Amino acid sequence: MPTVGEIVTYLDQLAARHLAEDWDNTGLLLGDRNRPALKVMTCLTATQAVVEEACDEQVNLLISHHPLPFRPLKIITAESHSSKKVWQLASQGVSLYSPHTRWDSASGGINQQWAEGLDLWNIEPLLPTEEPDPAGGTGRQGTFAQPLSLLEVCHKVKSFLDFVGLFTPLRVVGENEKLIERVGIGCGGADSFLGDAIKAKCDLFITGEARFHNCLEAEEREIGFILTGHYASERFAYDRLAKQLSEKFADCEVWSSRREGNPWNLYSG
Ligand SMILES: [Zn+2]
Repeated sequence: MPTVGEIVTYLDQLAARHLAEDWDNTGLLLGDRNRPALKVMTCLTATQAVVEEACDEQVNLLISHHPLPFRPLKIITAESHSSKKVWQLASQGVSLYSPHTRWDSASGGINQQWAEGLDLWNIEPLLPTEEPDPAGGTGRQGTFAQPLSLLEVCHKVKSFLDFVGLFTPLRVVGENEKLIERVGIGCGGADSFLGDAIKAKCDLFITGEARFHNCLEAEEREIGFILTGHYASERFAYDRLAKQLSEKFADCEVWSSRREGNPWNLYSG
């Protein structure tokens, strides 16, 4: 039976520490490397429902994309909204590991999975580094084998999301007929990379969510923009990571949270 530490070592290999953004909080954030890891659960976010599932199921290691805690905590009590979940996990002996921006950027991580899922060619990081880093890089860019219309790309994005089991509407900036050859990708709320996608001569940038003014900027600067929703842009990777871990650690029971969901309901009037 593996220890928490052995699984952490494997995760650190998949998503190298140096790939984390400076502002991020990643790695083993809570817990004890020496404890056994019989039950491991993955999730996008350690929400209240996820934390209760982890405690009810006596999970030993929770792997949450979004860090918990993210900011420093001065108190850890059951009364405080910001620290209650940390207290619940710690008091039930649940360790927590967060790969966050490391897994966005890793060579097999979320942005790479998007780029491959959309059949892009010549995939490389969106933000160039001085020397190529085999461990990965920030965002991805690549080209279609032949140009597609923006509407055809929307179909491609939808079928990727359907394939990974997420049925969600897209928000799109740009004319349906706009021709798309080079695509930039940044999962989550990566709209701050819009300028980098323009600099890289992308015809389209795909992310989870964006501020209104960045959508206006995309329209004015004539780059297509597809927003999948934050949840849809990242959650599928945690179903896949659970599967990967259960193959690697056959003695462990590994699953992705069954209680986690998208907080948004769509109301169409
Ligand atoms: Zn995210």
